[in-house]
Amino acid sequence: MKQIIKNYIGGEFVNPTNDEWIDNLNPSNGEVYGKIPNSSVKDIQMAVDAAKKAFPIWSNSTLNKRSEILAKIARLIQEKQQELATAEAKDNGKPLALAKKIDIPRASSNFQFFANAITQFSSDSHESVGYDAFNFTVREPLGIVGCISPWNLPLYLFTWKIAPAIAAGNCVVAKPSEITPLSAFLLGEICNQAGLPKGVLNIVHGKGSSAGEAIVKHPEIKAISFTGGTITGSHIAKIASPMFKKLSLELGGKNPNIIFSDCNYEDMLITTVRSSFANQGQICLCGSRIFVEEGIYEKFKKDFIAEVGKLKVGNPFDESTDIGALVSKKHLEKVKSYIDASEDYGGKILYGGEKVNIEGCEKGYYLQPTVIEVKDNQCRLNQEEIFGPIVTLMPFKKEKEVIEMANGVKYGLSATLWTNNLNRTMRVSKCLEVGVLWVNTWLLRDLRTPFGGMKASGIGREGGFEALRFFTELKNICIKY
Ligand code: NAD
Repeated sequence: MKQIIKNYIGGEFVNPTNDEWIDNLNPSNGEVYGKIPNSSVKDIQMAVDAAKKAFPIWSNSTLNKRSEILAKIARLIQEKQQELATAEAKDNGKPLALAKKIDIPRASSNFQFFANAITQFSSDSHESVGYDAFNFTVREPLGIVGCISPWNLPLYLFTWKIAPAIAAGNCVVAKPSEITPLSAFLLGEICNQAGLPKGVLNIVHGKGSSAGEAIVKHPEIKAISFTGGTITGSHIAKIASPMFKKLSLELGGKNPNIIFSDCNYEDMLITTVRSSFANQGQICLCGSRIFVEEGIYEKFKKDFIAEVGKLKVGNPFDESTDIGALVSKKHLEKVKSYIDASEDYGGKILYGGEKVNIEGCEKGYYLQPTVIEVKDNQCRLNQEEIFGPIVTLMPFKKEKEVIEMANGVKYGLSATLWTNNLNRTMRVSKCLEVGVLWVNTWLLRDLRTPFGGMKASGIGREGGFEALRFFTELKNICIKY
């Protein structure tokens, strides 16, 4: 039986008003397994109406009440871990084991974190000494906000926006990626079970160019929190900026992984395999450009390729799979086109590069993890976000040289640095043009910390109180006594 996904508006599951639907595919076998609404402006208007109705009560609810409901959603996500992880593997092609270990626990933590954070969120006061006046600053919810998320970490990133938005007292119109809608659909039912009042969260499915853009253009939606590609982010900014909407844009990356010979080699090697190929390399934080200090370059090359060779490409539902399917045929073709042209870009394939045929999943979108040696950081393989299981390798001699190469891209999301030298750690960290930097680790996240990118990787920061600041408007009240 086909899985029918519906819009979640005002606490109800409803068909799109135009009765138009989009096929939903399972990338592990290329089969259409369901359909989702191809929502239009009318559906977005219904979601806005529901959010508007819910806002006066929700924004005046006590922090304890909001916190309790968010914590209940967190618990229910945990309880439904198997079902939600299965949904992610089916929609995205990621290994089920990865979804169980990372995606779903993090989606739960997003709600639990903001359930706690909202009870600790405070504002400032300033006494104007000598003027007999006192200022206090209030942070008010914005009203209705829009949250739009991508396909690579579906529920993880969807909830990363929704949890702080509703914790701060807003009502939300949200759209998950049309490529991975199932976990967001299941979240609607969880919110009802947790007692989230109707209309506080509305989830509308459909294409970015229609449903997504209708959210961005809606005059009553006061802020847009968007995670996705840089081109889409720029398009959204062009629409939203003249409307003076608050904007948080988490966009693409082309992150450097800088390895000095004085690092803890074993830790670095194992983590670098993960930071290169986790989630089929489809994480905005993957270190896709690996720079290795000359003295250990040849050793690293040999050891890295040996480790990459141990990764098993396979059916996401097989527990022993390390690398599942890429998210779609279109994406597989895009990633493969870089591999096929790699020689023209001055690259030499050291490992991988071929599509993989998985028995029983012949129509799935599988690709070997691929390692390409490049000579010039300016080549397209090092300049463009490929967002798949591909990394490039390049040796470097000097600290200054590697900093220039690391910064020599339009993006500035994250970087990884491997060294045991404290002075070097400080010098290099201060020079790197990124929003997030990991030293001797990768993707170790503390949800209190600010998250976001510089340059073409976005504007604004989410995470911790930064997210609560984004989803609130400041008002200063000055009282003379
Ligand atoms: P995308 O930009 O194609 O789509 C993202 C979302 O935006 C989807 O829900 C899509 O339907 C919607 N959308 C598309 N066009 C729209 C429009 N005109 N108006 C409104 N919404 C629109 O990105 P994607 O292919 O889903 O995701 C991959 C990209 O996301 C990569 O570039 C990756 O680096 C980036 N990403 C960034 C972060 C981060 O935190 N910086 C995290 C994950 C992914």
